[in-house]
Amino acid sequence: MRKKVIAGNWKMNMDMNDTVALISELKNEIRNKNLNASVIVCPPFTNLDTASALIKDSSIKLGAQNMYFEENGAFTGEISPSMLKSVGCEFVILGHSERRTIFGESDQVINKKIKTAVKHGLKPIFCIGETLEEREGGITFKVIEKQISNGLEGLSGTDLAELIVAYEPVWAIGTGRNATPRQAQEVHQFIRGLIAGQLSQSFADQLVIQYGGSVKADNASDLLSQSDIDGALVGGACLKADSFIKIVEAA
Ligand code: PEP
Repeated sequence: MRKKVIAGNWKMNMDMNDTVALISELKNEIRNKNLNASVIVCPPFTNLDTASALIKDSSIKLGAQNMYFEENGAFTGEISPSMLKSVGCEFVILGHSERRTIFGESDQVINKKIKTAVKHGLKPIFCIGETLEEREGGITFKVIEKQISNGLEGLSGTDLAELIVAYEPVWAIGTGRNATPRQAQEVHQFIRGLIAGQLSQSFADQLVIQYGGSVKADNASDLLSQSDIDGALVGGACLKADSFIKIVEAA
């Protein structure tokens, strides 16, 4: 039985005051509830240290939204894996579609980042997903297959023991138009099959595959009740404690 994992990707939102307020609210809400799901928050880099201190006495876990693949050096503006570890990050989102499309990250760059993350004991939340054009062109499975084989190239089941995969159809991110539970389940099942072929069936059976793309309080239960949907990566709806907690409760 895979435990559901709900992660909030705050993106470039929430300053320091907002961060303190949101985490305090989340802690209060979670303290009084008997939850079955793991909860991860991914604030911007500048607020990770503060968030880390605030969640210490709670079950909330910390993730970053990105990371560079080098250990240190002359890479102005970048953040290394050991920097993330030093402020208490356990997870790191890699390959988000905004990184791929706005910042030009290729599968090869993402593969390097996953390799560096696991070397440093950070758990990757590896994002994949097709564009609307690709879905309408009937090549969703082909795109997913390529993203997985390139992104995880050269990595073993041992390296990836703590991997989370997030299936995020690009057309559903921030658009208010989520994939239907059936559309999402179909791709999740396909992903699990691919991973079984690339790594092993037992690895695939325990792999957490999150869905992301306009998850909200009112569609979370239907999505999360699908047999291969093991959680959610939430953007817009994670910025308010009540909507995020409702998604966690649905899990
Ligand atoms: C995301 O950015 O990962 C995401 C899923 O965003 P939203 O929930 O806003 O669609």
